[in-house]
Amino acid sequence: MAFARLLLALLLLFAAAPGQAASLKPLSVYFLDVGQGDAALIVSPTGKTVLIDAGPPEAQATLVPRVKQLVQGPIDLIILTHPHLDHLGGMSRVIQAVGVRRFMDPGFDHPSDAYRKLLDVVGEEAGQVMTPTPNPSAPDTPLSIGLGEGAALSILWPRVPQEPFLKSTRSDANSNSIVAKLTYGDTSFLFMGDAEPETEARLLGKPLDLSATVLKVAHHGGRYSSTAPYLAAVRPQAAVISCGARNDYGHPTAEALGRLQDVGARVFRTDQDGEVLAVSDGATVTLTAAQGRAPPVVVKGQGPGAPRASSGPKGKSVEIVVGRQEPAASGSGSRYVSLKGSKVFHREDCPTLKRAKTQQRTVYPDRASALKERRPSEDCKP
Ligand SMILES: [Zn+2]
Ligand SMILES: [Zn+2]
Repeated sequence: MAFARLLLALLLLFAAAPGQAASLKPLSVYFLDVGQGDAALIVSPTGKTVLIDAGPPEAQATLVPRVKQLVQGPIDLIILTHPHLDHLGGMSRVIQAVGVRRFMDPGFDHPSDAYRKLLDVVGEEAGQVMTPTPNPSAPDTPLSIGLGEGAALSILWPRVPQEPFLKSTRSDANSNSIVAKLTYGDTSFLFMGDAEPETEARLLGKPLDLSATVLKVAHHGGRYSSTAPYLAAVRPQAAVISCGARNDYGHPTAEALGRLQDVGARVFRTDQDGEVLAVSDGATVTLTAAQGRAPPVVVKGQGPGAPRASSGPKGKSVEIVVGRQEPAASGSGSRYVSLKGSKVFHREDCPTLKRAKTQQRTVYPDRASALKERRPSEDCKP
């Protein structure tokens, strides 16, 4: 089955062994209460941390201490789904407070001071800055990030340069939000950013398993996103809407809530529930609201969204291991790296990089993308 085969190639690194779904070490996802905006923190079974968005600027005062409580040392990966203020407003302060190893955003230009200032902080603090570019030789294979103990985060959207950024939509910044799927045993989480209907339609046209136990609802429960066909593919057992109480946008909308109800999702809302904690043991996800609701809601995973390591061929997906400063030695040489402030790029295994004092570097998944921004260095002639 071509579809299954393709899926097998998606997530190989650290995938769980078959049949061990029950009672794995816990994986936690904190949907942080940041008012009108998004911020979710993943803490993997091995303690790897991924922060997806960091709320609006007003949330800084509560977000920074909360993140400091939840993480030790620098965050392994921060994903900015798209450069809107309600997603990046608290990010610089979080980075300055706890540090970050890797930073990922969709990589399109966005003319705002807040975004530029964030990129300055990222340039100073992050060890690696990246976009979710698929490998050109396997363009349908999403970037996959191993988080240990079989947990993996794959980036489903955007797929530049294989597919150009979506244009002429209601909001192109929203439409090109990073969409990421976290899988662990039989459970999964789908993070939609502020994806628009066009994004959902594109994803539906792909040979992807969109099913998810828990859905982080697109665009704060806005009217246009979370279309019926998309929700039919996701089949969420639970849905989390991140939005502020009495916000000006009317989020979440009755339309989106109605469609979520139609697919039977248990809806959590940060405006009413406060912070929502979702803990997966690989078989079920237990969702607990900080306020206003008891007892916790337990939902069952729908089965392995991700393929198993033991049953698939070695894929060509672009893999990074979160938590390591240096890329793994094996398979190196296929990517290209540029040091901060340098006009040239090197092969990933170039000795010059190993000697370099600065850990601030940009990794390009292929030569073409490196050439767009830098020229080949004289030493390793990449
Ligand atoms: Zn937003
Ligand atoms: Zn947005």
